[in-house]
Amino acid sequence: MSSSVRNIAILGSTGSIGRNSLEVINNLQGRFRVTYLTTNKNIDLLEKQILQFQPRGVVVLDEPSSSVLKNRVAETVEVLSGEKGLLEIVTRNDVDVVVSSLVGFAGLKPTIEAIKHRKAVALANKETLVAAGEIIMSLVREYGIPLIPIDSEHSAILQCLAGEDRTRVAKLILTASGGPFLHRHKDELHAVTVEQALNHPNWKMGNKITIDSATLMNKGLEVIEAHWLFGLPPEKIDVVIHPQSIIHSMVEFIDGSLKAQLGLPDMKIPIQYALTYPDRFSLNGGRVDFAKLSSMTFFKPDLEKFRCLRLACDALSLGGTAPAAMNAANEVAVEAFLNRRITLNQIPEFIERAISSHKTKTSPDLHDVLEADRSARAFVTSIIK
Ligand code: MN
Repeated sequence: MSSSVRNIAILGSTGSIGRNSLEVINNLQGRFRVTYLTTNKNIDLLEKQILQFQPRGVVVLDEPSSSVLKNRVAETVEVLSGEKGLLEIVTRNDVDVVVSSLVGFAGLKPTIEAIKHRKAVALANKETLVAAGEIIMSLVREYGIPLIPIDSEHSAILQCLAGEDRTRVAKLILTASGGPFLHRHKDELHAVTVEQALNHPNWKMGNKITIDSATLMNKGLEVIEAHWLFGLPPEKIDVVIHPQSIIHSMVEFIDGSLKAQLGLPDMKIPIQYALTYPDRFSLNGGRVDFAKLSSMTFFKPDLEKFRCLRLACDALSLGGTAPAAMNAANEVAVEAFLNRRITLNQIPEFIERAISSHKTKTSPDLHDVLEADRSARAFVTSIIK
């Protein structure tokens, strides 16, 4: 056996990042062996992935769906279930790399477990760093593992920082597409539909992140994510709207020089970079054609219209458990919007109320983070009723 083949577990393999990760792994023929796949309850797609990639085991979070799958495939693959299944597979010896691409706060515990078992982590689950950045980064240092971002903006920054002395960075500039409501007046946001909000102009993604992109909460979460990944204070992280999504983010250095990373908006590029970092391999797909592109535009985000971006930055300044509470409030509010129980512009209202009622605890441990998450969820759930 060649020692260069790395065993990989994909948490959330039926989601958008998971499916793209499997395409990338297919493209990187022979470099990775898929040992574990997981789904919430999309067992039909998981069954196809089992046939194609022949993992040793799979985890189905939803218990009834897990039993159904077991009846179909128990002969060929080990089927585990629930959160305990996720926490189990990331500790196993036949896992070298974990792609952490669960949705939301659910990604936190399995990511911590993977780090503690010295697995390399390719991180797509930004909520993990938003809720528990301090805890995660200190574990990353303690266990000495690589934590490589899949998020396109953070991948862009990592690429811009290659070969650079990090003490020479003046600031990070995160680009944002602005989402589907960039040109709507703020008073129109109460009337937008779920379908309109899910219709992102540039990126095809899961529902939760697509709504976060429509409110610009996604960019707020990414500011917090960048703060923890690259160790810069909030005032050195800027956001600029760039509707074409060709520049994925930039780094400004102390001499005034800027580096940007460009490419078509295709998540396979940052996923592959995370898996092969710091090397590069060929990847088929479209290429930027500057003659066709003709212009790239930039402008300041409107924080009156996109209040979620400001709320996320405020939570980062508050520090401690405030981002965990903010994140939890957002997850509950986004779910309520998707279920048509609240309007889009009620999302920041509920988050703001959750943050003001939250008692921030500084230097939180995992228990404090879990408690902040639980109480903010309960608070927002109660006021939505
Ligand atoms: Mn992103």
